[in-house]
Amino acid sequence: MKKKILISVPSYNEEENIFPLYKALEKIISPLSKNYDFEILFINDGSSDQTVETVLKLMEAQSNVSMIDLSRNYGKEIAMAAGFDYFNHDALITMDADLQHPASVITDMINLWEQGYEDVYAKRNERKGEPWIKKKASATFYKILGTLSDSPVLPDAGDYRLLDRKVVAALQQVREGQRYTKGLYSWVGFKKAAIEFDAEERLHGETKWSFRALLNLAVEGITSYTTAPLKISMFFGFLVSFVAFIYMIYVLIKTLIYGADTSGFPSIVIIMLFLGGCQLISIGILGEYLARIFNETKGRPLYFIEKTYSNKKQKNDTVD
Ligand code: UDP
Ligand code: MG
Repeated sequence: MKKKILISVPSYNEEENIFPLYKALEKIISPLSKNYDFEILFINDGSSDQTVETVLKLMEAQSNVSMIDLSRNYGKEIAMAAGFDYFNHDALITMDADLQHPASVITDMINLWEQGYEDVYAKRNERKGEPWIKKKASATFYKILGTLSDSPVLPDAGDYRLLDRKVVAALQQVREGQRYTKGLYSWVGFKKAAIEFDAEERLHGETKWSFRALLNLAVEGITSYTTAPLKISMFFGFLVSFVAFIYMIYVLIKTLIYGADTSGFPSIVIIMLFLGGCQLISIGILGEYLARIFNETKGRPLYFIEKTYSNKKQKNDTVD
């Protein structure tokens, strides 16, 4: 029996990239088809362009292509979860639709998987075409996240990886709605191996990550992955109280020796503003976790599927 490999591609407004990606993949997977059965799954994440139509056109010609059409745009993390749920194969490869993940890495990924590694991730060497400020911000973020958490998240290891069925089975059980998948990979563990590759520039279209979206993902990453900010704000509270206490004793002694004076209004205002700021930040941090609890307790399904398109005969919802 040939081993079955699912290539899962979350796609949001990628109409121009679908065919080029398929071509690039085909070149790599057709020599491997002697030993493996590939299925390429596009997950349409509520695209507003012709992504669905383009994939359907591709499906007419290619029997190894399928598609999940989600009911709206849920974001890449959830789209990937839909790919994990669809999985019923021996290994899963997740990759981006924009050809920033070179298909050529797949051969090496499969080799390492055959050697017994269960989570083979591709690591970027260089981020071409990205402004240095983005690179710098991303590097800083991973540094902070690494210091805060117990199981480190690897910088520059993105969502281009091959996962053994064991790892996918583990990820299928993680149902948190606000998810930071890169953190999950390292949280679930399993035997990991890295492959380096040069990241390419996006072939067509724009990146979906605005600065705001990246900032959100960073907050998500930290709050869904560690509770360290709560500890830091508590520690800071202790520190400020301690300094205030020392200052109080100092003022008390000074007043006893030199008598009271009424000056010092500016310092009071400064201290008040400073403490007010600290309190607001702490409440904000608390609120962030509370909001997550609120959202998770609702226990909503991660996503809804508009329709699943598959050429495989065993699926009931087949469309040709
Ligand atoms: N993506 C998605 N849903 C979204 C945003 C992005 O499925 O809401 C997909 C997108 O189609 C692409 C991948 O996630 O295949 C990476 O997106 P992008 O290239 O915009 O991110 P970047 O490479 O800039 O980090
Ligand atoms: Mg990209």
